[in-house]
Amino acid sequence: AFIDRAEAVEARVKAFNSRDAEWTLAQAKASDERRAAGGAAGPLDGVPVALKDILAVKDQPLTCSSRMLENFVSPYDAHVTELLKAQGAVLWGRLNMDEFAMGSSTENSAFHTSSNPWNLDCVPGGSSGGSAACVAALEAPLSIGSDTGGSIRQPAAFCGVVGLKPTYGLVSRYGLAAFASSLDQIGPFARTVEDAALLLQAIAGHDRRDSTSYKTKLPDYRAALTEKEGPWTIGVPKECFAEGLDPEIKAAVEDAIAFYEKDGHTVKEVSLPMTEYAIPTYYILATAEASSNLARYDGIRYTHRSKNAKDAVDLYFKSRAEGFGPEVKRRIILGTYVLSSGYYDAYYLRAQKIRTLIREEFMQVFESVDTILTPTTPTPSFKRGEKADPLAMYLNDIYTINVNLAGLPGISVPCGFTSGKLPIGLQLIGKPFAEDELLAVAHRYE
Ligand code: GLN
Repeated sequence: AFIDRAEAVEARVKAFNSRDAEWTLAQAKASDERRAAGGAAGPLDGVPVALKDILAVKDQPLTCSSRMLENFVSPYDAHVTELLKAQGAVLWGRLNMDEFAMGSSTENSAFHTSSNPWNLDCVPGGSSGGSAACVAALEAPLSIGSDTGGSIRQPAAFCGVVGLKPTYGLVSRYGLAAFASSLDQIGPFARTVEDAALLLQAIAGHDRRDSTSYKTKLPDYRAALTEKEGPWTIGVPKECFAEGLDPEIKAAVEDAIAFYEKDGHTVKEVSLPMTEYAIPTYYILATAEASSNLARYDGIRYTHRSKNAKDAVDLYFKSRAEGFGPEVKRRIILGTYVLSSGYYDAYYLRAQKIRTLIREEFMQVFESVDTILTPTTPTPSFKRGEKADPLAMYLNDIYTINVNLAGLPGISVPCGFTSGKLPIGLQLIGKPFAEDELLAVAHRYE
């Protein structure tokens, strides 16, 4: 059914980079046989899950929506891929994204821009835009994305679906092409919080191949949805309602606040004054890490190799010049600059200190609240080409980026529509590794 649906709508939605229907049908058939014999491998057995084109799946393309990896086929499975296969999930297609996850609209994809299923002239958000669009357009019931500075929650908000960024360390990054390693996390997209809980259960857990993977006993996320019922204290940061917030989003989020109050929870104003520094801090740290991580794409090993090089040094230069798009180049240059001697102390080191302050500020607020509530984005989805200025694009992540800097879990759930019929997202932020409670708070509202 999902293959047929994609056949019917993909020409308009363009959520996928590639689809291998034969491979997917073979997995579905194996699942049918397994289940007929009474041996279902878990709750996801037979359920299609589409993956962002940044996660390794053995013998499938892994492009990161970059010319650099256009012809690359992965020789191994990511940890998340292994887990999904072992639990019988039917892997389905490779989803479009901004090149190397750098962007907020999929317009930085080297291949094509995906569309927002609610308005085809608008972007689905990014970088995991394909992951959000395919679930919103019913081309898959579940998908996986990655979130370095909002890339799961922002597209979920733009496309009217649920998107969860887990606590840093809950899901192994093994087999996720690295953008900014200290911020990257893999997480689920779904149409309901319950589905997101099931998919999180399937992909979370310790893995010795990711040195930042955390050893913790996993709660039963689905059971928590009904077992945990509060009453909760919900903090609303006043900085998130300052200038720049679309009035219709503000009104929708205020309605959500009123819902929680009526439901018997306590809502109180809190303050996160460091929010103002989140975007500059992120763009120093993320670009620094990216400049180092992307050094591996050298034209020598497994990436695009220029055909016009005179000698070895020229091969490096030309392969990188031809393989990377403009946003990726901008970030490599910026990241190299902030790490270079003479500037390291002024930028990189300072940004690390501010990052610590941002985290401490959150932890202090969490001494008196269970969950923090904000809009997911300051504006709804926008038209393709509307934000040509990179700085305007960066500002779209103002509410999501500090959550990555603090390593916390965050979820975006649908929160109504604008008068222009574009979805609005509500963001809920939890304490570290308290995804069970966070999902329960979100489930209460949806
Ligand atoms: N939009 C942000 C950026 O461009 C976040 C991307 C992400 O979370 N991968 O870096």
